[in-house]
Amino acid sequence: MASKQNKTTLFVDEKLLALEKDGLYRSLKTVSVSGPLATVNGRKAIHLCSNDYLGLSQDKRVVQAAVRTLRQVSQCSSRLIAGNDPFITKLEDMLARHRRTESALVYPTGYAANLGAVTALADKNTTIFSDELNHASIIDACKLSGARIEVFAHNDTAHLENLVSKAAGRKIAITEGIFSMDGDSADIVKICRIAEKYDALTIVDDAHGDFIFGPKFAGVPAKFGAKVDVHISSMSKGLGCFGGYVATSAKIRELLVNTSRQFIYTSALPDYLCAAAVAAVPLAKRGNLQKRLFENIRQFSSQLKKHGFTLGNSSSQIMPVMVGDEKKAVTFSEELLKNGVFAQAVRYPTVKRGSARLRVSLTAMHEKMHIDAATAAFEKAGRKTGII
Ligand code: PMP
Repeated sequence: MASKQNKTTLFVDEKLLALEKDGLYRSLKTVSVSGPLATVNGRKAIHLCSNDYLGLSQDKRVVQAAVRTLRQVSQCSSRLIAGNDPFITKLEDMLARHRRTESALVYPTGYAANLGAVTALADKNTTIFSDELNHASIIDACKLSGARIEVFAHNDTAHLENLVSKAAGRKIAITEGIFSMDGDSADIVKICRIAEKYDALTIVDDAHGDFIFGPKFAGVPAKFGAKVDVHISSMSKGLGCFGGYVATSAKIRELLVNTSRQFIYTSALPDYLCAAAVAAVPLAKRGNLQKRLFENIRQFSSQLKKHGFTLGNSSSQIMPVMVGDEKKAVTFSEELLKNGVFAQAVRYPTVKRGSARLRVSLTAMHEKMHIDAATAAFEKAGRKTGII
């Protein structure tokens, strides 16, 4: 027993040491949020890493909707047993209309929605074609499904077509709508065209494009007029709420209800969170918040570029401020916090080795004074750490 414990202790110590040596050690910060500001480990700062892109998580109407509904902290049951609350059904109807699909199915998180949908639709007789920069939850979903996985170069539709054209059996192409660490948009029209030509199903995880882009803010496929078979999203980003969902045909929804383990064997999303989302959807579709967000994106990116920072190919509220070296990215982030800005360093395995960056995300809550103060702090910290 004692020697087993020693081996485990050694394993843990070695793993942690290796992470530290490579500049990949992660530690939790204590963060409390107030509007576009956050107190981070006791220090007040402009919050530049929230996914609450429209600020709806703090909107009184959304919060009140949750409070009004709150009688029970949890339904304490899965949906097929006793957890199918009327608010979930109402929310699903709204989400289906929003994404222009026949139906929608709510999951406890966006992570679970990816796992649930992909594992229900793919098996060992399926080949999944997955963009190399897809989110960890898509990667995990593909692995868990047991399907053959072919990774295509980021947004490289020629590479995708080359791989798809050689494959036999059932096929699925999967991509993000807006890439979560780069902020660029998928070449969704071409992906759908290739999928149609070779009889492949299309799945888009639009967690970061949902409620931000497209007509009526219906997301990236709607923006480009692309018809995808399965839309996956998280409600804890543009919508400012919590949970995940899949919007798709009525038949695929039935399959998910009947076979998706991440739907069947887990507790339902609590009703007050569904009520909050029901209140948030019409607020997210009015467009005034996106207008402010896009103005902030314009201001922030032009100021940072003027200072000489490299922002990758972002075309959205997610801006990677490229650093490269992992340790340098952490130092830069720490220096920024000292100057009143909270922007996290993102490193391997979230992004490729040597492509560490600060992942800045802007929101509609930021005002001009926050953008000006933040970009001034970036310049100061960037010069001190040798990034510009
Ligand atoms: N997909 C993408 C692209 C994401 O960025 C995230 C969260 N960062 C998820 C899915 C998971 O969503 P959730 O936080 O609701 O589990």
